[in-house]
Amino acid sequence: MPDVDRATKVISSPSGMLLQSRTWRSAGLSIALVPTMGALHDGHLSLVRRARADNDRVVVSVFVNPLQFDVSSDLARYPRDPKGDVAVLRDEGVDVVYMPSVDDMYPQGACTRVHVGHLSDVLEGAHRLGHYDGVATVVTKLFNSVLPERAYFGQKDAQQVAIIKRMARDLDTGIEVVVMPTVREADGLALSSRNARLSASERGVALVLSQALRATNELWLGGETDSSRLRAAMVAVLDSQPLAKADYAEVVDPEDFVSPGNLAVLAVWVGEVRLIDNHRLGQPMPSPAIS
Ligand code: AMP
Repeated sequence: MPDVDRATKVISSPSGMLLQSRTWRSAGLSIALVPTMGALHDGHLSLVRRARADNDRVVVSVFVNPLQFDVSSDLARYPRDPKGDVAVLRDEGVDVVYMPSVDDMYPQGACTRVHVGHLSDVLEGAHRLGHYDGVATVVTKLFNSVLPERAYFGQKDAQQVAIIKRMARDLDTGIEVVVMPTVREADGLALSSRNARLSASERGVALVLSQALRATNELWLGGETDSSRLRAAMVAVLDSQPLAKADYAEVVDPEDFVSPGNLAVLAVWVGEVRLIDNHRLGQPMPSPAIS
């Protein structure tokens, strides 16, 4: 007989989610939360698999959060595949797919925002005004309805990770933030839902992000620790690809994103698609497979 309690449920309201979480918590079960915006790929699934291994119950949220989009056309064009996402998450044995509507999440009158200090205002935050307030607000809401012991995030969004860790600590959530490494294609491109919007030729141009990070990492491994020289190496690779336009490329401290450090971060436009990537210098960055 199938275990009825373990069949994947789709829940769409915060109150329904909270009811389920409270039932699990009172039964002494540990809950994992994996927040996503859907259009799932293997990067998301690496988080889901780790969450399943570490916890009794797993909730994956699929919600394209309007609050974190600074440009409405970007929100409108964000890839969506709710049916495909539910099917994939069923196969992964996820307990709940939490898919609230925008009205469920932000009923009329909702106006509270969570702002995580200066971290939200630099680099990615400076280029996408209000983005991290949107992220911190939705993640706080997810924490409050899912009641997780642990929440899983990808290093692919390094600044988001720093912000969520800070927020989880500052707000005394007691939630453990687990960070998983960036999953890449064989040629080095970091998996991203936005990659689906790249044309075949743009897909080739997009390799410049991982190439720039690899070049910087090699310089670091050769003994260079000066942030401005490391940054210059990254910019030189980006400049060699005229069809890519960088918003920023920096080498910063992985906690404050301002001081010099060992995290190389970059945001680059390829056509109309904005891609981000990063690498903790000194860690191995495998050479791309030649096809
Ligand atoms: P998103 O749906 O893009 O908001 O991403 C949901 C979660 O998956 C975030 O914590 C991301 O950092 C993580 N993620 C996205 N892409 C990757 C990747 N290539 N490798 C690992 N984690 C990822």
